[in-house]
Amino acid sequence: MDGQYLPMSEAKLSVLDWGFLHSDATYDTVHVWNGRFFRLNLHLDRFLGGVERLRMNLPYDREEITSILKNCVALSGHKSAYVEMICTRGSSPTFSRDPRQAENRFIAFAVPFGSVANKEQLERGLHVAISDIVRIPPQSVDPSIKNYHWLDLVKGLLDAYDMGAETALVLDTNGHIAEGPGFNVFLVKEGALKTPAFGVLPGITRRTVFDLCVEIGLSATATDIGRAEIKEADEVFITSTAGGIMPVTRIDDAVIGIGQVGPITRQLMDLYWRKHDDPAWSTVVAYP
Ligand code: PLP
Repeated sequence: MDGQYLPMSEAKLSVLDWGFLHSDATYDTVHVWNGRFFRLNLHLDRFLGGVERLRMNLPYDREEITSILKNCVALSGHKSAYVEMICTRGSSPTFSRDPRQAENRFIAFAVPFGSVANKEQLERGLHVAISDIVRIPPQSVDPSIKNYHWLDLVKGLLDAYDMGAETALVLDTNGHIAEGPGFNVFLVKEGALKTPAFGVLPGITRRTVFDLCVEIGLSATATDIGRAEIKEADEVFITSTAGGIMPVTRIDDAVIGIGQVGPITRQLMDLYWRKHDDPAWSTVVAYP
């Protein structure tokens, strides 16, 4: 933060930063598994693309950010880590309201790896509720710029807890399934995969599922998915850097398939974690 490596407890942000006051920020999260970043280049592409489209300027180039991220992980000592890079609008030294006059800030941190689903949920599948909440429209906030506009997702999550579920899916502006708090969603029907196309963050784990499907010869399509359709799927899973590919076995009152982790979900989960050792998909961290 501001050119220094600090313990997490000392990493503090000004309350005047527009990242905090206006959610005027973009970020990305990549994970490290067994001492290797997974698909770091794709995360950097998405992050740097968002920074550019928000008309922010970073004090570092791509190579410098890469070495900062590696240093954060190496200094933290975490072999499996959740690593964020953030660019905030910052604030204006003259208190101008013009965002062009703000001094943008770069922050990165590494904390222990965390997952949307815990071990038990990964074994038996998550219980998900579909909330009536509509995800912020892409016409308002471009979801391909990874952002902290989460009030819809948090409301969806609170609704899901009220309904006795463990996490939520929210809708797009046309009433189709969109995504959940920190994840994309896939269904499998008769051996073919589908994931929502509209109003969602193009997740790197989602992209990875498409890449794995090409390798093993499965069809995967980004398209509209209805509320009823997802409950009638043979298998459902969610995808996130925070946990990878995670099975869903109940949506609202509907049991998905036979109520257990399905064979395609299991195959993709195995392949996904095996790819974490593959030098073509991962980057090593040099620990001191
Ligand atoms: N959708 C939202 C809103 C997210 O915040 C995230 C990740 O944080 C995802 C989807 C999954 O994206 P990825 O697979 O790149 O982690």
